[in-house]
Amino acid sequence: MLASLFPHRQHTSARVQVFFDDTGWDFGRLLQTFPPQMAEQIGAIPLCIDAPDRIVWRITSNGNFTTKPAWQLVRSRRIGFQLASHCQCCSEIETINHIFTSNRISDQVWQHFGDIFLIPMTSGEGVRQRFQRWRYSGQHVSRGHICTIIPLLIFWFLWTERNDAKHRGVHMVANCIIWRVYRMISFLHMAGLFRVVHWRGDVSLAPFFGISMTHPIPPPPIMDGIASGGGIIRDHTGYRIKAFSASYGTCLILEAELRAILDGILLAKGLGISAIWIEVDSTLAIHCITKGGGPWTIQGILRRIRDFICFDRDTVSQIYREGN
Ligand SMILES: [Zn+2]
Repeated sequence: MLASLFPHRQHTSARVQVFFDDTGWDFGRLLQTFPPQMAEQIGAIPLCIDAPDRIVWRITSNGNFTTKPAWQLVRSRRIGFQLASHCQCCSEIETINHIFTSNRISDQVWQHFGDIFLIPMTSGEGVRQRFQRWRYSGQHVSRGHICTIIPLLIFWFLWTERNDAKHRGVHMVANCIIWRVYRMISFLHMAGLFRVVHWRGDVSLAPFFGISMTHPIPPPPIMDGIASGGGIIRDHTGYRIKAFSASYGTCLILEAELRAILDGILLAKGLGISAIWIEVDSTLAIHCITKGGGPWTIQGILRRIRDFICFDRDTVSQIYREGN
């Protein structure tokens, strides 16, 4: 299939093993064969070099195939706009513009937020024009500004509400969509994702959303995303020998924790330390190391950790973050 994408390439077939070596993907070779973006995507696939080959079903966490997620995947692809079906709020034909900008439910939602931000709503506008009306509603509006977030949230919750109506028989209610937009704005604020610049020109409207931009924003909660990790190596008396930290890019919290543990082990081994006591605050990471299991994406890292640890000699235990 890849060969058909690159008809000008000389080789029409190659084995996957050509593209990795003992340590992992060979980016040099990938870049010789694929465009950089595709090479990056392939290089991001986790590899277990020393494990036997097996087919992994990407959408389940353990990599095993089951029919339920397969059915959900097919179903989600089948739902779309291809078929002319009638709207969930009236008898008109359901088009993209009808769902998002020109039915009685969406009108109420747009009207509500338009009144707050003094952005008028013109009937007959399509999705693109409606978004641009908000995006260019003032010179203070830039990327990430509340006036770009609100229309996106309205689109999103109109869509989820429409799906609930269509597939679960729940009536579409404008106030429910409005409430969901408010709640999401509140969540984004609590996650520390809004700064004053995102409300520039509209700071006085923040209290409508229960938000005060003059009070300090609480620290963001821990969530999967861009992750980094680190650790401290001490001797048996508690004396600090070395500390390290590293960025692990986009990955699960568990994966970042295991990577940090592996980095710590490698560093300790490099320092000639033979017996190691690993203290980590994640009970899940400890469970995966001592008992195995966990999603397939971490199995390569787990295997390497277990290669270095000898359970007769080394210890893995939990310590609360405060005590670390
Ligand atoms: Zn309708």
